Amino acid sequence: MQEKTKKLIELDKQCLWHPFTQMKRWLGSEPVVIESGDGFYLIDTEGNRYIDGVSSLWCNVHGHRVKKIDDAIKDQLGKISHSTLLGLAQTKSIEFAEKLVAITPKSLKKVFYSDSGATSVEIALKIAYQYYHNKGEKRDKFIALRQSYHGDTIGSVSIGGIEVFHSIFKPMLFETYFVPAPFPYRFDGTAEQCRQFTLDKIEELLKKNSERIAAVVVEPLVQGAAGIIVHPKGFLKGVRELTKKYGVFLIADEVATGFGRTGKMFACENEQVEPDIMCLAKGITGGYLPLAATVAKQEIFDAFLGQADEFKTFYHGHTYTGNALGCAAAIASLELFEENRIIESLPEKINLIAEYLKEISILDFVGDVRQCGLMAGIEIVKDKKSKKTFDYKKLIGTKVCAAMRRKGAMMRPLSDVIVLMPPVAIDLPLLRKLLDIVYDTIKNDLPKIAGKQ
Ligand SMILES: *Cc1c(COP(=O)(O)O)cnc(C)c1O
Repeated sequence: MQEKTKKLIELDKQCLWHPFTQMKRWLGSEPVVIESGDGFYLIDTEGNRYIDGVSSLWCNVHGHRVKKIDDAIKDQLGKISHSTLLGLAQTKSIEFAEKLVAITPKSLKKVFYSDSGATSVEIALKIAYQYYHNKGEKRDKFIALRQSYHGDTIGSVSIGGIEVFHSIFKPMLFETYFVPAPFPYRFDGTAEQCRQFTLDKIEELLKKNSERIAAVVVEPLVQGAAGIIVHPKGFLKGVRELTKKYGVFLIADEVATGFGRTGKMFACENEQVEPDIMCLAKGITGGYLPLAATVAKQEIFDAFLGQADEFKTFYHGHTYTGNALGCAAAIASLELFEENRIIESLPEKINLIAEYLKEISILDFVGDVRQCGLMAGIEIVKDKKSKKTFDYKKLIGTKVCAAMRRKGAMMRPLSDVIVLMPPVAIDLPLLRKLLDIVYDTIKNDLPKIAGKQ
């Protein structure tokens, strides 16, 4: 290892606290230090190249150092990097909002910017709550799915259902109604029964508390952080029908699923669903800069109109709301979607992943394979038949991903689910190379890793 790398690792360990990372383990490890990117590769300080197998945590779309996005940002740097949207307008935030309204489901008309997925969800919750407040109703409850993930701020954690991440903070959170996630692999019954089971639970809650509930919040089609739980077909549509029937909002958290991930621009399109509020972040800038958007229906927006002394204003904002560099990158990213016909190119890639997953599913220790578009999860279990999992502290998923890293694929698991989330624009040969590494590691290294336990 070069001196330069040694020094950087030493400084990292001295000064940084990494997210979602057990720092005790980190301090005893030899982390990879990324220095640059090249297309779909990450390059470390030692010059090693890794395929970005999880899109730099699910946000990269067109690759790294993409000329068009780089140029758009440089061009914007020559004008202005940031000016506030509080009481002022800004060219790029206007241009991008127009484009976003044009591509999101047609009833969504108003873009409220922020800077992360978590804030886009916080905003959706506060908008839904205040909408009813402005109308003279008190609706302070939300329905969410167990194992859901909507970000790490307190409001988003309040509607989050992942035990290990969220239960510690329970005393700090507002009360939410949870229903079981429709997760066929861990459901005793058919996918159809699984779908109906959760829908019935939602309807029960809506029936009992409809005048207290502001919205049902879902990750459409796929619960990413839960371990790529893919919902049974028709579940989202079912939720939409119920929310309409009982007159509550549907908030679609498309932070992970948006911008091509599921094979369509937005996951909701797969089931012709129009939510009342949509949350967007991760892929919005092509994975370049922190920008997010909460997009709402006209009717919702209208409920906030009034005289100053009516206090109907939405009192919410972030310093970097609608950042100009972020919006410039986001515009360039959308243009690349069109120029490179990204959405049209997806079926071939989705099929290739499906082919590999079929082969992987029959390997030892593979309990389940799940896929929705370019989001895939491979669940590793101790016992295929009983679906019994490995002991959490054995870190099987982490060790499998470390083996993949040694072969040139940068991966990150969700406990024992190996996540495959390549950049949306990845080319077929490189995708095949990534899938070969995944297949080879699960076939040849996993039995050794599991056997050592
Ligand atoms: C990642 C994610 C978030 C949080 O986004 P951040 O930008 O990390 O705050 C919210 N919702 C979903 C579905 C996500 O996958």
